[in-house]
Amino acid sequence: MLLELRDVAVNYGQVSALRHLSMSVPDGAIVTIIGGNGAGKTTTLRAMSGLAKLATGEILFEGERIDTLPADRIVARGIAHVPEGRRIFPDMTVEENLRTGAFLRRDKAGVESDLDKVYHRFPRLKERRTQRAQTMSGGEQQMLAIGRALMARPKLLLMDEPSMGLAPVIVEEIARIIEEINADGVPVVLVEQNAGLALDLASHAYVLETGNLALEGPAHELHDNEHVRAAYLGI
Ligand code: ATP
Repeated sequence: MLLELRDVAVNYGQVSALRHLSMSVPDGAIVTIIGGNGAGKTTTLRAMSGLAKLATGEILFEGERIDTLPADRIVARGIAHVPEGRRIFPDMTVEENLRTGAFLRRDKAGVESDLDKVYHRFPRLKERRTQRAQTMSGGEQQMLAIGRALMARPKLLLMDEPSMGLAPVIVEEIARIIEEINADGVPVVLVEQNAGLALDLASHAYVLETGNLALEGPAHELHDNEHVRAAYLGI
């Protein structure tokens, strides 16, 4: 397993956001976490990237515990996080934003070559590389946030609600990009409210309900599960 959560719990003060969560991400996979508002999806990603501290349990990445490490050490190990709401730097240009994704890297040539790769994958970012990020559309900002994460040359990409607030045609484009990134060898943990999209992309899925793991299984099985269909797919 590339990433493993064992009996993880996270509290925010008195609020218990996540309880007894165990999950695994095999190398190469797209694994999705679906669930309604406040189910604990964002908290799970934050625990993986060291932004939320565990109350109990442990997280292993490539067989080693990472939950005791600060967030920047976890980035250095190879976990990149595309946060909910993109969180790009609005006053910086597209290219400056992309370069911040490589801030821990010392291999200058590798960084330049990865910048070329990101521009190749996202021609629109290349066209707009000197444009201030805040003037970009929602879809372009999402591409920028993904491109910035790729600049860390991650071994695992965590994506929080990449489809949020985007028009259906842009959502399709983002979905295709996630598939391409994965096909190029980057495993992905995808958090989505758009359960249909997430179950289409992923091989394995976890369903969270108010901080508890409600269901897990192969994505196509959850897609056919009656509870999932009624609660999350509107069928
Ligand atoms: P959404 O899709 O609405 O973002 P989510 O599944 O990502 O939901 P989380 O954001 O992980 O859910 O939140 C899980 C629970 O923890 C919620 O009850 C939320 O109110 C609570 N919570 C999240 N962040 C904090 C915080 N900083 N302080 C206190 N409670 C928090």
